[in-house]
Amino acid sequence: MATATEDHALLIGGERVETGEWLEVRSPYSGDLVGRIAKGGAAEARRALDAADAAAARPLPAHERARILDAVARLLEEHHDEAARTISAEAGKPMKAARVEAQRAVSTFTFAAVEARRLAGEVVPMDASPAGAGKLAFTLRRPIGLVGAISPFNFPLNLVAHKVAPALAAGCPVVLKPASATPLSALFLASLEEEAGLPAGWLNVVAGSASQIGDVLVEDDRVKLITFTGSGDVGWGLAERAHRKRVKLELGNATPAIVCPDAPSGTAAKLAANGFSFAGQSCISVQRVFVLADGWDAFVREFVPKVQALRVGDPADEETDVGPVIGEDDRDRILAWIGESKGDVLTGGDVTDDGLIRPTVIAGPAADDKVQCEEVFGPVVTLTRVGSVDEAIEQANATRYGLQAAIFSTDLPTCLDAATRLEFGGVTVNEAPTFRADQMPYGGVKASGNTKEGPAWAVREMTEERLVVLQT
Ligand code: NAP
Repeated sequence: MATATEDHALLIGGERVETGEWLEVRSPYSGDLVGRIAKGGAAEARRALDAADAAAARPLPAHERARILDAVARLLEEHHDEAARTISAEAGKPMKAARVEAQRAVSTFTFAAVEARRLAGEVVPMDASPAGAGKLAFTLRRPIGLVGAISPFNFPLNLVAHKVAPALAAGCPVVLKPASATPLSALFLASLEEEAGLPAGWLNVVAGSASQIGDVLVEDDRVKLITFTGSGDVGWGLAERAHRKRVKLELGNATPAIVCPDAPSGTAAKLAANGFSFAGQSCISVQRVFVLADGWDAFVREFVPKVQALRVGDPADEETDVGPVIGEDDRDRILAWIGESKGDVLTGGDVTDDGLIRPTVIAGPAADDKVQCEEVFGPVVTLTRVGSVDEAIEQANATRYGLQAAIFSTDLPTCLDAATRLEFGGVTVNEAPTFRADQMPYGGVKASGNTKEGPAWAVREMTEERLVVLQT
């Protein structure tokens, strides 16, 4: 029997709801029980939509929505430690990275509050055509309606924030289904929203059966938009089935970085840190590094020791750089992919005494090695020697993914040319492709998704424009 502190109910219409069944949340590092959460399904999802629908009938004015969002940002700052520890405990994310995520969630709410305050339509220049002469027209931005949000395990706080904060800014109640491995950060955030004064029904958290909850969100006509972050198979499957809704997808990547011989100093260190932070489980973790031949030896000489110097171990330790991957199946899959690669393992490729995959660098992989053509989502970086920037761009683009990419060079025309030719939603120059600030428009093309997150962009998606025409 679990203790009261380990058990969490679902949040539906402001009530704590138990179901008689529990999902266990275990540390990916130690296997210890971190907590239990009531396991919901179709019935709880429907009940949550009823609650959200009732909330929508009592709209909150923009100033009130902005006040609540600002208050959540303040509370997140006050409870920074608890937020970071919850993320770290359930996701196995090293405290260093968990603290960054917790701090970023403050930004996400702060920028969403700005959007709530400035949400407005446009004036249409009606007398610009003979047909419009004598009329005035403008658009209003109206909340789209109920939002279904489905979030992944790897940023259990800030990616939930990127869904619920813009929805509230736009005036849309939310039914949130957090990842089963990491529902506690979402519940923690929901409790802060309640404390900030969010009325019942505006945020409902239903953990549990993904297919049952997902089916309800897809099939219920009251849900006007589904915002999904996670794997491509699930995301595109939802979009196919929910063709009458807006389905906004943030999916994976096999993140490339191009390193020219004139890359600024510190490039190797940046890429080493950003290939392995949270054991490579970020959708924009550095995965495929293309190094121009002239700089190859120097880069490898600098990069490999930086990777070897990363501290691997207990995510609760503030000094740890690299912790566990989320589960044993993932660990086995990643080790198998490393084993299958035709490249040379320069470091890593094995596990530590406590069973963690050691940060792994593979030089010269084949183009069809899974570590090169799939999303590894683990602590593995490949290095590929290329003869020219053109070749690097061609190989970087030779993927079905298109989220973010990077180029490192001190030659501005080379960088700008690459920025236009890399087929990705974002290109960073002399910064790791893992870089994200929360006000940025962030999202992929090709198989990586169909939208941009970042409060200013997400709020636009979560509203629709209504035209008003006045006869003068
Ligand atoms: P996932 O397995 O696709 O799960 C994501 C969410 O979808 C979870 O809440 C999951 O629930 C739910 N889900 C699974 N099957 C479903 C179904 N049939 N209907 C409705 N929901 C369903 O992804 P993950 O392993 O958590 O996350 C890793 C992936 O996310 C990687 O590919 C990564 O690149 C991507 N990602 C992308 C971004 C971005 O912004 N582009 C950011 C972070 C992560 P359960 O947990 O209950 O299965």
